[in-house]
Amino acid sequence: AAKQAGGARLSWFDDSLRAEQSERARIAAGLRQALADQTLLMHYQPVVDTATGRTLGVEALMRWRRDGEMIPPGVFIPVAEQTGLIVALGIRALRLACAQATRWHAEYGLYVTVNVSTHQLRDPGFAGDVLAILAETGLPARALVLEITESVLIDAADTGVLDVLRAEGIRIAIDDFGTGYSSLAYLHQLPVDILKIDQSFIRRLQDPPRPQDVSLTRAILELAGSQDLITVAEGVETAAQAELLRELRCPLSQGYHFGRPVEPGMIEARMREANPAPVS
Ligand code: C2E
Ligand code: MG
Ligand code: MG
Ligand code: MG
Repeated sequence: AAKQAGGARLSWFDDSLRAEQSERARIAAGLRQALADQTLLMHYQPVVDTATGRTLGVEALMRWRRDGEMIPPGVFIPVAEQTGLIVALGIRALRLACAQATRWHAEYGLYVTVNVSTHQLRDPGFAGDVLAILAETGLPARALVLEITESVLIDAADTGVLDVLRAEGIRIAIDDFGTGYSSLAYLHQLPVDILKIDQSFIRRLQDPPRPQDVSLTRAILELAGSQDLITVAEGVETAAQAELLRELRCPLSQGYHFGRPVEPGMIEARMREANPAPVS
């Protein structure tokens, strides 16, 4: 601002950089406030048995209601990660999801799966926090899955905490599989129980699907099965994709075709509809 005579191009660059930084600062400040005033909430997306469509679990996905507007995690999670706020945000997500899922687990046998960032795994208090939340909410460890993106698992330093959590009965899912660096070849070395095939693979299964795309999906399913991993297909949007995944015997599926992420009340309604109370 001091150099009004400065080059126009440079000042444009400065301005846009400054705008980006101030937007990031605005989001960070908003997130701090949201942690205090409870405007962070969770939506839940059904995870279904591909063969029957029955809902077996739900993925907890964070939402931020800012001035009445729902801000998606794609906007605020990166800022939370850059500022370290993700540790507090992640604990909030876990506590909300476990508290909510305790009833769903008791009544409908549902499990809940919660996303976890690298920063959280590196926080020395993480395992203790998770176990404390289970104790506090009464959710059995078997009913909790933690999702870690594939690239994180490359770092062996991060896997120790996963061993601790698995020993307690918590299951670990590798999220967005196929987008990171891990290869099918060393899948057996990863401390995981569930493999989630990234949406980009499922999107390629168009109607009619190309043989090479089908065989890639089949290869992932076969290898995961041979390692005793349960596979979830992510981003299933069409009946044709669901049918193909059924034929390929992909055990679990998730996507708009089966159900979008919704507020807890709508999961409740969906489960009641699927399990009507006996008429007395
Ligand atoms: P993710 O864990 O891979 O979650 C799946 C994303 O795909 C969700 O986006 C979901 O709404 C979307 N999705 C589900 N089915 C379909 C479909 O059929 N088609 C399409 N196009 N999309 C579908 P969302 O809720 O915007 O979340 C985006 C990402 O933000 C998540 O990806 C996850 O990495 C991150 N995230 C969300 N909540 C949390 C959280 O509590 N903690 C952390 N660390 N990350 C979170
Ligand atoms: Mg996920
Ligand atoms: Mg995913
Ligand atoms: Mg993701």
